[in-house]
Amino acid sequence: MNKNESLGRLLVLDDEQDVANTICLLAKSAGYETDFSCDSEGFLEKLSSWSPTHVIVDLQLADRDGIEVIHELAEIECQAAVLIISGLGGRILDSSARAVRENGLRLLGTLSKPFSRTDLLAMLSAETQEVTSSRTFLNEPVTVEQLQDAITTNVFVTHFQPKISCFSGKLVGFECLARWPCEEGRMVPPDQFICLAEQSGLINELTRQIYRFALANMPLQMKDKSFKCALNLSPINLIDDTFPRWLLSECESNGISPSRIILEVTETANMDNPLALLESLTQFRIRGFQLSIDDFGVGYSSLVQLARLPFSELKIDQTFVKTLSSSDESRKIAAAVIGLGKSLGLNVVAEGVEDELALNYLRDLGCDEAQGYFIARPMDCSAASAWRGELGKSKYVAH
Ligand code: C2E
Ligand code: CA
Ligand code: CA
Repeated sequence: MNKNESLGRLLVLDDEQDVANTICLLAKSAGYETDFSCDSEGFLEKLSSWSPTHVIVDLQLADRDGIEVIHELAEIECQAAVLIISGLGGRILDSSARAVRENGLRLLGTLSKPFSRTDLLAMLSAETQEVTSSRTFLNEPVTVEQLQDAITTNVFVTHFQPKISCFSGKLVGFECLARWPCEEGRMVPPDQFICLAEQSGLINELTRQIYRFALANMPLQMKDKSFKCALNLSPINLIDDTFPRWLLSECESNGISPSRIILEVTETANMDNPLALLESLTQFRIRGFQLSIDDFGVGYSSLVQLARLPFSELKIDQTFVKTLSSSDESRKIAAAVIGLGKSLGLNVVAEGVEDELALNYLRDLGCDEAQGYFIARPMDCSAASAWRGELGKSKYVAH
């Protein structure tokens, strides 16, 4: 390296002047041009007037937090490589690093304070990590071409989330939730592709792929004939009149009785043909499948539909369940919905159970089954197979 050649321009943002100064001295001794600012306004000004190649951002500032600074950097499409520093510990550094990447910035890495000169210089000279696929997948909308490619290459999988009996605490079955694996083991959540599949006419092909995976990769417990398997069905799948027969033959080839399959249907505004809907749902019931009305209490699900359509189960929407311990209104709505479901002879399930209070409350109201992060998150097949939910051994023992 030529004596006058700089390794790059480093701009440091840290509200402790001594720390900022020390970082600058260390980097300067290794060949960087350096400057610093102790407040975010000054930092942003220098960023635009000086165009640094590297920036170091401390997460805790007097005037702003690091995430706000990351947003500002993303807003101005900052091209500098970003190094995050903090004394706050690993998990916060990890999630901040993720925020840097997912905002489309070039992440160098993270350093936990205090750090050595060697750590700092190693980090500054590191390759920036790829602006990750998560930006493509999580911040930018998925395209129809990406979706079609993924279907053609058969990449879709499901994760499995346990459902337990509110009374015994025992596992009763799993809900299968679609996942689209992308790079680095990340999973694109269904909210980002189901709707597109519905709009682009790909939902029938996609649903069949998801179901094939779920039926062939059930958690081990499913070998026990008493466990149930819940699958989500798009209302658009109901228009495909070959679907009930196809599903029956898939169940037969996997040795699963249709009576163990629960199809969860969310009502939508486009259910403009009530007769077709009635007939289609009835065809599933004739073949022995169970039907659940999902997200009940929000959107388009109505009392009339519930009474006239052949549902065997009602799933209370998680917005009420998540807030059971904090909202009196949610408790009243949940009580009314559970009472309604029971009076119609339906199996009543609550999802979004995030704390013990909610589970106890649901049990007191006579809700049959519970699902939610307090019990377990959705897991891949091997984690789900290892998962045990059993009264007496678990944290959700009846009080
Ligand atoms: P859903 O059917 O209401 O599924 C429950 C969602 O809530 C899942 O999100 C699950 O991970 C999440 N969840 C479960 N317990 C909790 C909790 O305690 N707290 C919180 N905050 N969330 C919880 P996920 O897997 O992202 O699925 C989102 C939606 O995508 C599903 O909502 C369903 O409508 C749709 N979906 C998932 N898989 C499929 C599929 O194979 N086909 C169709 N058509 N839709 C699917
Ligand atoms: Ca569902
Ligand atoms: Ca739901």
